[in-house]
Amino acid sequence: MSEKTLKFNSKTIHGGQQPDKAYGAVMPPIYQTSTYAQSTPGGHQGFEYSRSANPTRTALENSLASIENGNFGLAFGSGLAAIDAVIKLLNPGDEVVSTNDLYGGSYRLFKQIFERFGIGFHFVGMQAVGEIEKHINKNTKLIWVETPTNPMMNIIDIAAVSKLAKKHELLLAVDNTFATPYLQTPLDLGADIVMHSATKYLGGHSDVVVGGLVVRDKDLAAKLYFIQNASGAVCGPMDSFLVLRGIKTLHVRMQRHCENGRAVAMYLASHPKIEKVYWPGFESHPGHAIAKNQMKDFGGMISFVPKGSSYEAAIEIVEKLALFTLAESLGGVESLAGHPASMTHASIPKAEREKNGVVDALIRLSVGIEDATDLIADLEQAIG
Ligand SMILES: *Cc1c(COP(=O)(O)O)cnc(C)c1O
Repeated sequence: MSEKTLKFNSKTIHGGQQPDKAYGAVMPPIYQTSTYAQSTPGGHQGFEYSRSANPTRTALENSLASIENGNFGLAFGSGLAAIDAVIKLLNPGDEVVSTNDLYGGSYRLFKQIFERFGIGFHFVGMQAVGEIEKHINKNTKLIWVETPTNPMMNIIDIAAVSKLAKKHELLLAVDNTFATPYLQTPLDLGADIVMHSATKYLGGHSDVVVGGLVVRDKDLAAKLYFIQNASGAVCGPMDSFLVLRGIKTLHVRMQRHCENGRAVAMYLASHPKIEKVYWPGFESHPGHAIAKNQMKDFGGMISFVPKGSSYEAAIEIVEKLALFTLAESLGGVESLAGHPASMTHASIPKAEREKNGVVDALIRLSVGIEDATDLIADLEQAIG
């Protein structure tokens, strides 16, 4: 049976995986080694040094490539290390057009590290794809897309952006952390690079920090592999193993994240003390039609603003929540609540944040896979 014809729910378990060659171990062993014996100089079995390649990491990289419908996967020590490798494809003077409502750490990496090295960034609201073209010039090399966006849950039309990228011969990279390949596969929609913080849904258990990239093009893969090895931000064998284990249940977890997300979104939308709820599953959401088209379901990420939009009301709610843990991050089995203005998005200047809707009263939920009744009861006691 050809690997490529497997359905997603089988690829998560079998994609790119074979029983281990040494003893037939069904799960890839954690090859906790830096180096490999050679019979003669250069006489090795495909592995020389674990920065260049490690069998457990290779197993994860093959899994990533499989679930994203790509040909090549690369695993890094964090999501940001994966983004760092993509931007290192560029040279001083090159420019990037990026989603404006973006993961705070990505914004910080672009503005505070790569701008110092002469790379220019334009942050653009991409819900109207026409806006992107206004910022494309002869120096533009890359479009960076995050969808759904974090934390505003805006939806960007990946196929439409891809058309634009191809017209101008630009690379298109999509941060697929929020959606995961269960919901959308950007390479199928024309993207060149898919990026993941595997720390989130792919790992799924809040026990590891890992990043990933997936591409189809062999030359692009070779360039990224060169950067991965030359810069060295690889992930270790133990972390690779944990993410591989997480991916095996990705489809089952995502199904429940989506069901619970829907239940919580509906509850919040009907609550008299809630002003606004951001979730792409609402028909009233401006990106709903695109989301319906490019995503299988709407995910478990929801943002909302309590009535009156006061900072104090938001803080009171997140502090009162008991089953939802107040914490950074998302995508684990347990439900988390966050306050973007003071947590994940604190590194973005207030004026810049608020332009995109990240007001002081905004609360972001990563809805976990507990019983939805318990989650709603917790929100009920916190909101009052
Ligand atoms: C967490 C996150 C990142 C960064 O990943 P790390 O693994 O924390 O380095 C990038 N993009 C999104 C959307 C994220 O949620």
